[in-house]
Amino acid sequence: PSLEEPSRPKAVVELKGVEKRFAAFTALRRMDLTIREGEFFTLLGPSGCGKTTTLRLIAGFDLPSEGQILIAGQDVSNIPAHLRPVHTVFQNYALFPHMTVLDNVAFPLTVRRIGRAERLERARAALDLVQMGSFAARKPSQLSGGQQQRVALARALVNEPRVLLLDEPLGALDLKLRKEMQAELKAMQRRLGITFVFVTHDQEEALSMSDRIALMKSGEIVQLDTPTGLYDRPANAYVADFIGETNMIPARVISQEGDVTLVEAMGTRLRVSGNHGHVAGAEVQMAIRPERVSDDMRETENSAEGVLADVEFIGTDLRMVYRMTDGSRVVMRQQNSGRAVPQLGETRRLGFRQQDLRLFGR
Ligand code: ATP
Repeated sequence: PSLEEPSRPKAVVELKGVEKRFAAFTALRRMDLTIREGEFFTLLGPSGCGKTTTLRLIAGFDLPSEGQILIAGQDVSNIPAHLRPVHTVFQNYALFPHMTVLDNVAFPLTVRRIGRAERLERARAALDLVQMGSFAARKPSQLSGGQQQRVALARALVNEPRVLLLDEPLGALDLKLRKEMQAELKAMQRRLGITFVFVTHDQEEALSMSDRIALMKSGEIVQLDTPTGLYDRPANAYVADFIGETNMIPARVISQEGDVTLVEAMGTRLRVSGNHGHVAGAEVQMAIRPERVSDDMRETENSAEGVLADVEFIGTDLRMVYRMTDGSRVVMRQQNSGRAVPQLGETRRLGFRQQDLRLFGR
């Protein structure tokens, strides 16, 4: 290896050809996955795509039908859940209602027969980590949802796991608290340096917290990438559609000219960066993010005319829907700069930079 090669963090969880079947149903299809030491890794996807199944296999609550699971280089396929160096936090925190907060957090150490003094000391330290030290004597019922979730986290951290598995841990919280806890969880993960494997169906949550995301569909990983990679370089129309908002505009390929594809869409001709390997005449989808559509023509190779059909205010942004001359619909998102808002029914020229356009097969 060359000297310039950056040192790669070690693999901490590895799935090799892992398949999970429930009777005739295949929940996971030959999955290969490497999660690195110290990263915030997220399994993202719609309901039923296999996120929880993947997490349960890593935890050891279920066994794979095929394939191998390694944790810190060790094959754990035959190691029971409670002996694996991982800990799981679920959406329903499952705190013991009759125990104090401190005893709840100390409980995993009782199971491991650690002496009382050490147990309480470690439980206090774990509570301090989640800023719940002053609530040690309370019962769970005397805490808010967010505080209960923090106690559940402390209980997961008390064993100093190498890997923390989190299954929609913020799902039960209201939106405001959820946002707060997202930031806290992320900060805590950075501070502790523990590997987090996080499950969510909420793409915004995944984008804001993760180092890397595996986007899943029907038991398979569709794209494994950084948040910006998924957002800016979606591998296919499914990813472009699942992550953020995307305009999908019907287009027809005219020709390929070097590194540019010439297409017909929205009643005009446009240049699209990149050799997408689509043959002339192919019916495709042309994707562009609403915030990349612009009415500033200085930097654009492409433009098309549309009539403003709808305007929505979204806090700091304006979301405008245009109907193009061929009937296709284009959403443009702009900062609400205080400039005059265009009138409904007004015709405008919209710009599409060639590097912001992507083509997908239909
Ligand atoms: P959600 O976001 O709704 O929790 P998920 O992505 O976590 O979804 P999984 O719970 O992993 O999905 O389930 C994947 C698929 O496997 C689903 O179709 C589910 O019905 C099926 N499945 C999960 N557990 C079992 C089981 N014990 N027996 C039969 N089918 C199961």
